[in-house]
Amino acid sequence: MIDTHSHIYGSEFASEQEELVARCKNAGVEHVILPNVDVESLKEIREFHNKFPDFTSMMLGIHPTSIGEDYENLLDFFDSEVDSDKWVAIGETGIDLYWDKTYLKEQKIAFEHQIDVAIEKNLPFCIHCRDSFAEIIDSLKKFKGKPLRGVVHAFSLYPENARQYLELGDFYFGIGGVVTYKNAKFPDRLGEIPLDRILLETDAPYLTPVPHRGKRNEPSYLIHVVDKLSQVYGVSAEEIDIKTTENAKRLFFYHD
Ligand SMILES: [Zn+2]
Repeated sequence: MIDTHSHIYGSEFASEQEELVARCKNAGVEHVILPNVDVESLKEIREFHNKFPDFTSMMLGIHPTSIGEDYENLLDFFDSEVDSDKWVAIGETGIDLYWDKTYLKEQKIAFEHQIDVAIEKNLPFCIHCRDSFAEIIDSLKKFKGKPLRGVVHAFSLYPENARQYLELGDFYFGIGGVVTYKNAKFPDRLGEIPLDRILLETDAPYLTPVPHRGKRNEPSYLIHVVDKLSQVYGVSAEEIDIKTTENAKRLFFYHD
């Protein structure tokens, strides 16, 4: 299994990084991709990656909830880091209107700037979309004719929404703990989205799957997401593991 979106570099895990990585490997997690959030998190990501270089890969991005008054400084920081390391993707980036709509305009500018850079560097990008589907689609449409590719992180919408993304580019859909929640409606029709578009992710330490809901999330819990996907798609857990691993490698590692 590959956890394509995990913040295990953060302070929540600082005291037990070795144990955490051992638990992940024991549970069958072969690789973890670390999405960036802001200036501080990039330091943590680099430290974590330097400790476990074969087990992790890094993204570079500015999270939409980090965008505020000083967003231009953050974009300068982003630009200054683009060529400084080996990134497998730009992210996470996007638009988040759940907490605060004050900086919608700035969030859009930052999102579109990061897409520009992703295209220029031939990298995929990781979309954080929360209460902002229309705004995200609106931004993506501005890049029509350009080679857009990436993952919609924590996807919890419907096949119609997935289709809109797929009309605009080479997109994958990151599925995590939310798929196991009893009140979630989207799993009922998730199987209409082709399995070759699905990626596994935890968003650890958040969005913990059942039966660990309420606790801190970690990549070793991915197996519960795999079990649920195996029910949704009517194939074995092993098949889900193999397919989603292939998908992740196709998007992040083997693109030319
Ligand atoms: Zn995240």
